[in-house]
Amino acid sequence: MLELTAEQRDIKQAAREFAEKEFTDIARELDANEKFDDNIWKKAGELGFLGMFIEEKYGGAGLGHFEQCLVIEEFARVDTGIAQTMVAAYFGTQLIKLFGTEEQKQKYLPPVCAGKWRAGMASTEPDAGSDVAAITTTAVKNGDEYVISGNKMFISNANIADFLVVLCVTDPQNKKKHDRLSTIIVETDRPGYEANKLHGKLSIRCSDTGEVVLKDVHVPKENLVGKEGKGFYQLMDFFNRARLDGGGALAVGTAQGAFEKAVNHVKKRKAFGGPLGRLQIVQAKIAEMATLIEAGRSLLYRAAQKVDHGEVDHALIAMAKWYTCEIAVKVADEAIQLHGGYGILQEYNVEHYWRDAKVLEIFEGTKEVEKVLIGKSILGKV
Ligand SMILES: Cc1cc2nc3c(=O)[nH]c(=O)nc-3n(C[C@H](O)[C@H](O)[C@H](O)COP(=O)(O)OP(=O)(O)OC[C@H]3O[C@@H](n4cnc5c(N)ncnc54)[C@H](O)[C@@H]3O)c2cc1C
Repeated sequence: MLELTAEQRDIKQAAREFAEKEFTDIARELDANEKFDDNIWKKAGELGFLGMFIEEKYGGAGLGHFEQCLVIEEFARVDTGIAQTMVAAYFGTQLIKLFGTEEQKQKYLPPVCAGKWRAGMASTEPDAGSDVAAITTTAVKNGDEYVISGNKMFISNANIADFLVVLCVTDPQNKKKHDRLSTIIVETDRPGYEANKLHGKLSIRCSDTGEVVLKDVHVPKENLVGKEGKGFYQLMDFFNRARLDGGGALAVGTAQGAFEKAVNHVKKRKAFGGPLGRLQIVQAKIAEMATLIEAGRSLLYRAAQKVDHGEVDHALIAMAKWYTCEIAVKVADEAIQLHGGYGILQEYNVEHYWRDAKVLEIFEGTKEVEKVLIGKSILGKV
């Protein structure tokens, strides 16, 4: 099941070549300047790398989440920040694909797949991150419209997205807190939409992250995704897809990129009369790193392939998300260690893997939250 088909190998190879050609020379500059180059989105869209799991009739490649993972893994191997901006471009389309109306799919999905529009998903608020159901942004029905008010925090693409899928409270009186929520598409050019960029991030610095203020933003009732009251459950289904490429694949690629830098370095760097790689403790470190990556990759591929075969195993997805992100931090840390002092110099092009890996343990569900999900799934109600 885990062997790649010839087509999947070709996709992975094409993504590798694209990333090496388009990312290598500009990645460090984009990271330093907290900027992105829109041409990369356009080119990635033209080559069909964005929203590959979206049906062809809506502009996607008609493939699976697994193929999307293969591509994002290769992108992150070169640069995690740029890879994450690619994920962010179609972040939220998974939810529209699953629950949107025909009109919504026709309107919002094709321009995202083509690299012309940028999407986004806004659930987190200043006082509600892991505790999603505690959000307070409201959407009040007013005739044929919803009027949306509230604040969102840490939103990818907040300043540059064309639209966001926003999690709102539509039924504040409902006694079941999970049934109070709905998802609504908000175009960012609507009056009352404001965003502020968050500067000075440790990780994925070229990716736009911002605060969003929604001040009485009017959207037509047709922008509701699916049914009212289903927002929390839709979000969980969304995360069961988005965590694969936006968590696991970013992590496996990051670990792989850092690992390759370490392997090259220990083959070249001389100490105690020969290359570092001749020392058995160095060999052991390389062996451990390779094994962690292989284990993480296997877990991710299995979780993604199951989703594409119609079996959404949320505990397995949570295992893949938590484990791959944790090993990305460990492998990147060891890669710096094996470089010695050179590892902390930007010039050696390895320190960014560790900086970028850290955020992977936080967004798309923190590692603690993933473990809560796994534990609950195993133990049930105790
Ligand atoms: C760069 C970046 C981009 C992001 N992009 C988006 C985006 O596009 N859209 C969006 O909606 N959000 C986005 N986020 C938000 C991200 O999903 C949240 O930061 C994350 O869910 C954690 O929420 P929090 O920051 O409020 O931390 P908190 O929820 O306050 O958690 C703080 C700590 O407490 C732990 N904790 C919380 N609950 C439990 C529990 N039950 N058991 C054990 N430990 C627990 C957490 O694991 C964490 O270690 C982004 C974040 C970052 C940093």
